[in-house]
Amino acid sequence: MIEPFPTEILVVGAGMAAQRFVAQLLTRASASVRITVIGDENRGPYDRTRLRELFQGGAAEDLALPCAALDDERVEVIADDRVLRIDRGAKTVRTRSRRVLRYDALVLATGAYAARVAVEGAGLPGCFSYRTIDDAEGLRDFVRDRGREVQRDLRGVVVGGGPLGLEAAGALQDMGIDATVVQYADRLMEAQLDGTAGTIVKRHLQARGIAVRTGTRVTRIDPDESGAVTAIEFQDGSFQRVDVVIFTVGMRARDELARNADIAVHPYGGIVVDEGCRTSDPAVLAIGEAASFAGRRAGRLASAYAMADVAAGRLVGETPSFAPPDESAAVTLAGVDVASFGDALARTPDAVDVLYADPVAGVYRKLVLAEDAHTLLGGILVGDASAYGSLRQLVGAQLGADPASYVLPARG
Ligand SMILES: Cc1cc2nc3c(=O)[nH]c(=O)nc-3n(C[C@H](O)[C@H](O)[C@H](O)COP(=O)(O)OP(=O)(O)OC[C@H]3O[C@@H](n4cnc5c(N)ncnc54)[C@H](O)[C@@H]3O)c2cc1C
Repeated sequence: MIEPFPTEILVVGAGMAAQRFVAQLLTRASASVRITVIGDENRGPYDRTRLRELFQGGAAEDLALPCAALDDERVEVIADDRVLRIDRGAKTVRTRSRRVLRYDALVLATGAYAARVAVEGAGLPGCFSYRTIDDAEGLRDFVRDRGREVQRDLRGVVVGGGPLGLEAAGALQDMGIDATVVQYADRLMEAQLDGTAGTIVKRHLQARGIAVRTGTRVTRIDPDESGAVTAIEFQDGSFQRVDVVIFTVGMRARDELARNADIAVHPYGGIVVDEGCRTSDPAVLAIGEAASFAGRRAGRLASAYAMADVAAGRLVGETPSFAPPDESAAVTLAGVDVASFGDALARTPDAVDVLYADPVAGVYRKLVLAEDAHTLLGGILVGDASAYGSLRQLVGAQLGADPASYVLPARG
């Protein structure tokens, strides 16, 4: 059991959820609490969502999360060390550098791995993930060195056409590299967009010089005589010359510590938590992308932060509950505003939609409505997402005006 008001709190993972948890806990905790945060990256918590800036002239230090709580005398941050094992009986963890740390309450905030497709050549020099500062710096250095070596413009392929893939394609362009996005699904951002919206986003990307191949799969990556990537083979047998490959094909929860300690893990990955972010061991909580609540994993920051807030509250005797926030997104990808919110793909039975599409201007606005044709369930906006903030607030409410007036262009 977690003691009421535990004094030794150990947080594994020094990422975005961890820093939020510490900040929240310190606003409520007693003077006697001691918090140890241990992370395996060689730096303190930083803002992953700004990774792209490293390709636009930004420095790694600029991404550091300003978190005064981490400087509090009750907090110790250990960087560049990895927790390898949890001993639940002794309430200790053991680390790569042979530290043994005791806890009253353990918080697992270990995030996720970037997945790669299991094809021959996926580990060759020139193949990258897009998740950490190390990934970004490795990619930048490779591009610099490879460019000098081959003395010609480089070609890049991004495998995975979700929001992260489109961001990675933008990062390649930032470095002056021709980018192709390869997507197995029949459209880009298939979890957020319907077919027409996906096609309009594709047209936007193509207009900016990013090539898109949907409905195909990478089957092999070949090295040249130096061992670095030189070509990629697709499902239909065709080849494309390539120097850099970035995989953005999804996340896999880092749940191995829990799994090895016999803490319940969901069959599809993620440490199973209840509405209080408690795992199957009452002394262990899990938050952020490592956790699985009601069979779903947090994929966006809002969920990771909501879990951090709940876990902090629980440790000081409050009883907040985690209710998954709407994982809606409004992003600017390769210069295109794209927003998707609520039941954007109209999965609710008998949902109807009202939409406006102008593929030439690259604009698409769709509202998904309940059977009554007035209650807003969700929507998609491409090209101009300025209405996102106000529409998102209206999800679940009756639209006052004629729903069509929200999507049609202003008269005149
Ligand atoms: C490029 C990119 C862009 C994104 N953009 C957005 C966006 O625009 N909007 C949005 O809402 N979300 C975005 N996200 C998602 C968001 O960044 C994540 O939801 C958030 O980082 C999750 O926080 P976390 O603490 O669970 O995981 P992380 O931030 O990944 O932190 C986990 C940390 O734990 C460490 N760790 C793991 N295992 C151990 C161990 N055994 N011992 C010690 N340390 C360990 C990891 O190395 C890592 O540092 C983006 C993600 C990426 C990669």
